[in-house]
Amino acid sequence: MNPILHIQDLTKTYQSTDHTLTVLDNINFSVEEGSTISIIGPSGSGKTTLLGLCAGLDRSSSGIVELNGIRLDTLSEDARAQVRNQYVGFIFQNFQLLPTLTALENVMVPLELRGEKNIKPQALELLDKVGLAERAHHYPTQLSGGEQQRVSLARAFSNKPKILFTDEPTGNLDAETSEKVVKLIFDLNREAGTTLVLVTHDAELAAKTQRILRVKGGKLVSDERTGVAV
Ligand code: ADP
Repeated sequence: MNPILHIQDLTKTYQSTDHTLTVLDNINFSVEEGSTISIIGPSGSGKTTLLGLCAGLDRSSSGIVELNGIRLDTLSEDARAQVRNQYVGFIFQNFQLLPTLTALENVMVPLELRGEKNIKPQALELLDKVGLAERAHHYPTQLSGGEQQRVSLARAFSNKPKILFTDEPTGNLDAETSEKVVKLIFDLNREAGTTLVLVTHDAELAAKTQRILRVKGGKLVSDERTGVAV
């Protein structure tokens, strides 16, 4: 096994004036490169926090987070951002598009950060892939939820991520758009070998991945293979 993500004794706590809240408690798992995995569990169980730590958006209180052989838990915010730009795609439930930029410009940002040339045609091609070429010059507020989600997907793809983290990727979408988005995500795994880590409450979507981790009260309570072929 060749893990792209290795999590060891991971703990995340938040400190308030009178007590310590343990949100993640001694989590251990590894994710094989090119595989697909879901993280499920009740609301408030720590799924989003776990995803953010795995993707280097946030830092653990203790424990190891190793992504593509790089220890994220010991890196500064800036160094983690560099690792993210290089290897990671992230799709949030609330899209997090930059509101002052058009769809096209939002997709161009990661390409620019990577120092790529000829970024406009590349970004247009990505928007075309998600069926939004004709919306390239629209601003996020001029797009529907499903369209914003697809821009967010094109932006994540533009990073040519080795690993894609998605937080409830279909949470706000109607059934038809949700199906399209899921197909695009799994195509990326099949065609480019991108590892997928999905946080979802959708059992049907989780069953499409090769492995399901269940989190409850900040603990990893089960880790099962679904039987989906590698
Ligand atoms: P889930 O994604 O499973 O719904 P979250 O990871 O969003 O769960 O949250 C897990 C717990 O951590 C919740 O109780 C939440 O209130 C708490 N939490 C998340 N972020 C913070 C924060 N910045 N400060 C304090 N508590 C937080």
